[in-house]
Amino acid sequence: MTVTRFAPSPTGYLHVGNLRTALFNYLIARKAGGTFILRLDDTDPERSRQEYADAIQEDLEWLGLTWDRVERQSERLDRYAAAADALRGAGRFYECFETPTELDLKRKKQLNMGKPPVYDRSALKLSEADREALRAERPGHWRFLLDQERIEWDDLILGPQSIDAASVSDPVLIRGDGQVLYTLASVVDDTEMRVTHVVRGSDHVTNTATQIQIMQALGGTPPSFAHHSLLTGAQGEALSKRLGTLSLRDLRARGVEPMALLSLMARLGSADPVELRGSLDELIEGFDITRFGAAPTKFDEADLYPLTARHLHALPFDAVRDEIAALGVPDDIAPRFWEVVRENITVRADMAGWWTLFRDGAQAVVADEDRAFVAQAFDLMPAFPFDDTSWGAWTSAVKEATGRKGKQLFMPLRLAVTGRERGPEMADVMALLQKPPRL
Ligand code: GLU
Repeated sequence: MTVTRFAPSPTGYLHVGNLRTALFNYLIARKAGGTFILRLDDTDPERSRQEYADAIQEDLEWLGLTWDRVERQSERLDRYAAAADALRGAGRFYECFETPTELDLKRKKQLNMGKPPVYDRSALKLSEADREALRAERPGHWRFLLDQERIEWDDLILGPQSIDAASVSDPVLIRGDGQVLYTLASVVDDTEMRVTHVVRGSDHVTNTATQIQIMQALGGTPPSFAHHSLLTGAQGEALSKRLGTLSLRDLRARGVEPMALLSLMARLGSADPVELRGSLDELIEGFDITRFGAAPTKFDEADLYPLTARHLHALPFDAVRDEIAALGVPDDIAPRFWEVVRENITVRADMAGWWTLFRDGAQAVVADEDRAFVAQAFDLMPAFPFDDTSWGAWTSAVKEATGRKGKQLFMPLRLAVTGRERGPEMADVMALLQKPPRL
């Protein structure tokens, strides 16, 4: 059975980059009728916060990315301790005592000599007496002893991968203060939870190499891996610094619709075109992880708004009935209000502007050369309340009196009545106006 997991650390809000990971894992599980686990990687007590864990769940719910169960790493520490014991028993775990400064110095020396900055395993040469003496000074941290051979896997996105374990430092799995690090916790979880597919960003490729060896040392079978490319800005610039403003909650606050965001992210960077979909089920159907490319993927927030607008244009009145009522639109004109404005909004919040206009009128916009024309036209305005015939009757009368026609006739009136160059059909605008327009 297919099992995937989305494993954020609750140390911040989810952003578009995280969403790619969440969505791919979700789609794979759902397409296969499998299980999608939300795993909170919260072994760092200092940086993990409940409010972020709540926010992550809220953001996923907003998108409709439902999970089958939540797992918290902080509740599985005994499992990680057991795995650490097993690795010790197998001779694959060793205690080290270098301080961060010492390690930094070693790295610098290696780099100066043109060597890769790989941990030199000097802790392996310590005698038991050395270790005793060092333990009295500071607590030891624990590294996994890599087998120095090539580590290979067939990545579902990157294709065949081969990493020389000798070019990678033995990973630290437990810190001096006893904190279990992500690599160990993740491997134990993926193995025990029988995760079949791990999809994550390509910044994890090196981790994958070491994780495969740790899994094997623990008697597990590595899952399939897929490393998706990282997002860049529209010009190819690094997005990392701007991700803060691209959190899912910010996008939500700016009016982006879930299906617009999901439709874009489920295709961006793949060989398939981005098309607005009506439901997650449609996205699930067409999803294929192997269609994604390894090249960095350009993300432009601006692409979300035309999709959002198209999503809104297609919504039936029932889907917005409550929101429209909340704006104060009377029930008897609410369906027509929606018919008239839906093609003239980009985000839901734009509805309010149209309603204010219909209710209170707009600040008239009149070009100097149209002043006399508009004043004359307003004198010819039909009696209020208006109906479907008002605009036709009005413009016929104005045309007759002034001789203007076409754009010369209509645009100054539109600007004077709505204050905007664009908008719904004027016949509809007139019929919805709650007060006669004034100059
Ligand atoms: N907590 C890790 C991260 O957010 C999970 C990576 C993984 O999927 O294994 O980077």
